Amino acid sequence: MTQRVLIIGASVGGATAAITLRGLGVETVLVERELHKAKPCGGAVPPAAFKEFDLPAELIDRKVKHCLVVSPSGQETHIDVAGSVPSADDYVAMVRREVFDGFLRSRAQERGAELIHGQLIALRVEPRGVRATYRRIADGSEHTLHADAVIGADGAYSPTARFLGLPNLPRAVAIQERIALPASQMARWEDTADLYLGREVSPDLYAWAFPKRDHIAVGIGAGPGYTAHARELLANLKARLGPALDGGRLILREAHALPMEPRKQMAFDRAMLIGDAAGLVVHTSGEGIYWAMKSGQIAAQVLARHLDAPSAANLRAYEQLWWSEYGSMYTFLRWLQKWGYGNERQMEVFTEMCRNPDVQRLTFDSYMHKQMAPAPWGAQLRMTWDILCAQARNYLRRRTPLREQRQYALGV
Ligand SMILES: Cc1cc2nc3c(=O)[nH]c(=O)nc-3n(C[C@H](O)[C@H](O)[C@H](O)COP(=O)(O)OP(=O)(O)OC[C@H]3O[C@@H](n4cnc5c(N)ncnc54)[C@H](O)[C@@H]3O)c2cc1C
Repeated sequence: MTQRVLIIGASVGGATAAITLRGLGVETVLVERELHKAKPCGGAVPPAAFKEFDLPAELIDRKVKHCLVVSPSGQETHIDVAGSVPSADDYVAMVRREVFDGFLRSRAQERGAELIHGQLIALRVEPRGVRATYRRIADGSEHTLHADAVIGADGAYSPTARFLGLPNLPRAVAIQERIALPASQMARWEDTADLYLGREVSPDLYAWAFPKRDHIAVGIGAGPGYTAHARELLANLKARLGPALDGGRLILREAHALPMEPRKQMAFDRAMLIGDAAGLVVHTSGEGIYWAMKSGQIAAQVLARHLDAPSAANLRAYEQLWWSEYGSMYTFLRWLQKWGYGNERQMEVFTEMCRNPDVQRLTFDSYMHKQMAPAPWGAQLRMTWDILCAQARNYLRRRTPLREQRQYALGV
């Protein structure tokens, strides 16, 4: 009998899992409830995603080559996007999710995956297979599907995880506005992305201004304790950007949750979770697109190998591969988020630390190319020295936050 895999969610993770499964000859069905709405997202994607998943450059709105980091007191650090060995591939790609996700879904369909526009409403894992019920969006009718296994690629609120009886993960909220600016204003962000730190714009994560083809996307992240203040924080960010947004026209306001902790278990009998459903967002940057795609690819490869016996014991090879490859990076970036964004003095230190050339090279090697090589001893010593000096400077002298200098509303 033909073996079949059901994937819930046809966003970046689900579509990549489907493409991988089809490449391995597995019959694949995707169920997606929102085919016509973009996933709320800053859309920053590393070049590694374009190389590893063979994506065309036409998906890129802009290539960001410079970053500006602004501390709570207004200290600025300007960084060129460059790894240890500078190359033409040194950039951060800015994409619009409606374009990016649409491409991946079409590719999955071209490779033979079936795409159903429906909402999963029930899921049962049985000894001989998986039974899923979905509601067709077009007419509200209910249908049941049978498959050998299911991949939950259904995001931060993952209904698949819920039907498997798993608890919710702690969640942050990210909210962003897309603002069309006059060309003269857009020039400021031609190939530059901004990151803003400060309690009034993002108490424990960061705020951003990311340039797209015809607009700027300004947004903030708010960790689990601050989600109720998200709108206020965004208003403060816009106040902080001030005249840079003059003449702007709001195109869209969008928000969604971000998981703040990976799941302890991501593979079960006949079921796997990937991307946001598995909590695989990176803490310091809120980066989740590459990780959803990569986890979709690895989960699909493991599942295809074990489709004859998709037991938890066999499928957990996916978790082992994942954590042996990326475990230390997740641990480090989680620590970095707590250390760098823990309070405003640390945010000042973080902004200064970004000036260190070794820190820049390491950051961009790991972000752009997903190369997690340990830093040479010399670089480690230089970074440690610079960090200690920045700590001393910022703890001995109080810097006045911008909100006090300029008297705009305090968020939280
Ligand atoms: C405001 C914001 C900004 C962000 N900025 C960035 C960034 O710049 N760079 C970056 O790398 N990451 C960013 N992220 C994170 C990134 O968006 C996610 O990590 C990524 O989209 C996860 O992909 P995924 O495929 O796992 O899940 P998602 O993209 O969340 O997709 C889940 C899919 O499942 C579908 N679904 C859910 N329930 C059902 C159901 N019952 N039936 C059928 N389908 C269902 C949804 O419609 C959705 O299409 C941002 C997130 C937010 C909220």
